[in-house]
Amino acid sequence: MFFYSTPHILQKISPTVLQWKVETQVKEIFLTFDDGPVAGVTHEVLNVLDQYQAKATFFCNGKQALENPQIIEKIKQSGHCLGNHTYGHIDGWRSSVKDYLEDVKRCEDVFCSSLFRPPFGRITCRQARLLSRQYHIVMWSLMTYDFHPEIKPEQSLKIMKRKASPGSIILMHDSGKAGDKVIGILTGILEYFSLAGFTFSSLEKVFPKKA
Ligand SMILES: [Zn+2]
Repeated sequence: MFFYSTPHILQKISPTVLQWKVETQVKEIFLTFDDGPVAGVTHEVLNVLDQYQAKATFFCNGKQALENPQIIEKIKQSGHCLGNHTYGHIDGWRSSVKDYLEDVKRCEDVFCSSLFRPPFGRITCRQARLLSRQYHIVMWSLMTYDFHPEIKPEQSLKIMKRKASPGSIILMHDSGKAGDKVIGILTGILEYFSLAGFTFSSLEKVFPKKA
């Protein structure tokens, strides 16, 4: 299905500035959760990850993080890592470079990270080039579409089972819009790939802190 992969024009524009996959032969998958933290969903995600001793990366919005400091602490204490997802979930294609960088900085004032993911996957070349001095800009190789009203968890899971491979970066959401679906998809992925000998790591392991 075409929409599960990343036929993104940005892949061609900035293949070295944007990370779409981790280059590895090791059976390791990188789970990522965007748009949280949200009380309820994020807690459930953390519980399921714990059951499988899986580590993950949470690309949080500064605004959400500011409202939920205890969940941010819990994410860190559980051995997962945080990524900057702007303060107000703004669209890079509709923002000036100045406004965009300011919003990223505003998120950074809430929590620190060397990882950045642009909301909607939309970022301009200039924004990306400037942010890459300070951040590893991490996109994704597989999108679960957990937020999509017409995609059933089973359909999504089927595609993940077929397409995920060593180094895949899988995008999910710990937000209201993914709500009940994300847990089913996450549990299915953890169950299937654990049995197949995979482990689940946070992105900080492969993209170390930048100065
Ligand atoms: Zn987002």
